[in-house]
Amino acid sequence: MQGRFLFLGTGGSSGIPMIGCDCEVCRSTSPFNKRLRSSGLITIGEKKFLIDVGPDFRMQALKFNIKRLTAVLLTHTHADHIAGIDDLRAFYFLEKKKMPCVLSQETFDEVKLRYHYLLQPLVSGKSLSAQIDFQILPQDFGDFELEKIRFDYFSYFQMDIKVTGFRIGNFAYVSDIRQYTDQIFQSLRGIDILVLSALRHTPSLMHFSIEEAIAFSRRTSAKMTYLTHIAHDLEHEAINAILPSDMKMSYDGLDISIEI
Ligand SMILES: [Zn+2]
Ligand SMILES: [Zn+2]
Repeated sequence: MQGRFLFLGTGGSSGIPMIGCDCEVCRSTSPFNKRLRSSGLITIGEKKFLIDVGPDFRMQALKFNIKRLTAVLLTHTHADHIAGIDDLRAFYFLEKKKMPCVLSQETFDEVKLRYHYLLQPLVSGKSLSAQIDFQILPQDFGDFELEKIRFDYFSYFQMDIKVTGFRIGNFAYVSDIRQYTDQIFQSLRGIDILVLSALRHTPSLMHFSIEEAIAFSRRTSAKMTYLTHIAHDLEHEAINAILPSDMKMSYDGLDISIEI
């Protein structure tokens, strides 16, 4: 079965342009150097699965005409990945049903603290906030089914925060990775397409550099790796020119075919 993956956002936590920055990339007029916060949409037939719901989600939904969602998958609780969660209420207003949201126990515990009102029961059958059906992943590695579609998931770390990656068919989404165990390569075995975060050239406490992303990709079977979560240090065309032939910079609006 064929599916699609649409990059809704490919920027780092500040997005590009960054507020107040006059660097060459932030001033660039190229659409490839304009990046909303990282997020993506998997489409399989009528089913639409959103990966992360960051602060730019409302703009992304309007820009890419997202009128309904089947479910949301969350990687972790940094604001650039969940700060748009309130905007999911639009889908409740439209469809009057709770939005399934798949996430780790750690992610759920933090969401519960920050967005406690999302867990309050309906007041006289009415909702003023998003209505979300939180579905907690039981382990660090495993699989689950959503609307008869099988997903694999795996865990890794960004400093002290646990992050969840997702795989569907020949495609895997691995964002905000810093520390990991070799078990991740079992989950990624046989993939063809990898979306992988790489912030900039220089090492960071939270993210892979370009070089580290290349090394990680080399340990997988990916035939094509798309880099995402890009900071303003990286100019789109300049980095594409130095990447190996099986790696590319992603960009907002890039739409690729995946195999389920
Ligand atoms: Zn992030
Ligand atoms: Zn800049």
